[in-house]
Amino acid sequence: MINREYAASIKELMPTSQRKTDPDRPVSTWQEKDRLRGYPETTMVAIFKTTGCSWYRFSSCSMCGYFNDVSNDIKTINLKRQIDIVADSLEDVKVLKIFTSGSFLDPQEFPLDARDYFFQKISGKVEKLLVESRTEYITESNISYLKDFGIPMRIAIGLESANDEIMRNSINKGSTFSKYVKSAEAVKRMGYELRTYLLFKPLFLSEEDSISDMIDSVQKSAQYSTDVSVNPMNIQKNTMVEHMWKKGLYRLPRLWSLARILLESKDFGTQVVSYPTGGNKERGIHNDSPDPKLLQLIYDASLNQDFGELEEYYNSVDKTAYFAALAAEKVNLSQPDFEKLLSRTSRASVML
Ligand code: SF4
Repeated sequence: MINREYAASIKELMPTSQRKTDPDRPVSTWQEKDRLRGYPETTMVAIFKTTGCSWYRFSSCSMCGYFNDVSNDIKTINLKRQIDIVADSLEDVKVLKIFTSGSFLDPQEFPLDARDYFFQKISGKVEKLLVESRTEYITESNISYLKDFGIPMRIAIGLESANDEIMRNSINKGSTFSKYVKSAEAVKRMGYELRTYLLFKPLFLSEEDSISDMIDSVQKSAQYSTDVSVNPMNIQKNTMVEHMWKKGLYRLPRLWSLARILLESKDFGTQVVSYPTGGNKERGIHNDSPDPKLLQLIYDASLNQDFGELEEYYNSVDKTAYFAALAAEKVNLSQPDFEKLLSRTSRASVML
């Protein structure tokens, strides 16, 4: 299940010291649109500062830089103070998404005391909640009692890919598709909803192959999921992905490809959504030149589950250069960023 050498190389890139930050304040809070109740509405998002993902003790996923925000000093009392801040900032927003730098449902990372305090504080205020967790913490004994708080909940699992080889040798997820299925079935049995996250264009996969993997993964996870969120890669600090990207050995995916995935998987029987982080920016998904309209259409289609305008735009633009770039990339073992490599080569020849 684990590629130990690869996991060790990822571990080597992780910082050995932690930044000093205020343990009583969440990493961040903001509002954004989502459709957790089946229609677009304003949603509060909070990232709690915690001791971090249990997987960090061994390694990390190759794209994940959340360890940059964790602190070993966080105790239950600090979490309770963070919870107060989040609960007070809700105002009239009724939908809340909680992120930690790991798993909200891991009792080591988010102790039961703090968890219960959290549910008491948001009870009567929040009408829909989303929390994230690795599969190992989604068990009846750990979470079925949360129903007693009466807050409808969607649990998000980072499946990333339904292909175990990709999970192991590219993402270093430390999990498998069968573990996901087991947890997804438990989520259903307990009467919660499931959001499945997929990772578009992990390392060592051509963009074309990753498109196929995403479509296949949406298809395989659709039956378990209220929605599937296709998350295109973004570059986070101190990660294996950043390491390869800086060398010009990794090219972020293109918005056209994301549009293709959404259009091809929209009828698989689940809501398929994508709200890219850093879209059209250097460290996020982008075409060869920025396309704000395409990014907006991807957001709008995801929020409204209406893909008509996105499809119309997709079909109206000449994509010859895009398909040629993908074909060229597919014959390479790595996924070079040609622009970055060329600029390095020309800088090197000036210095010779
Ligand atoms: S399981 Fe989640 S939090 Fe943990 S390393 Fe992977 S992506 Fe990061």
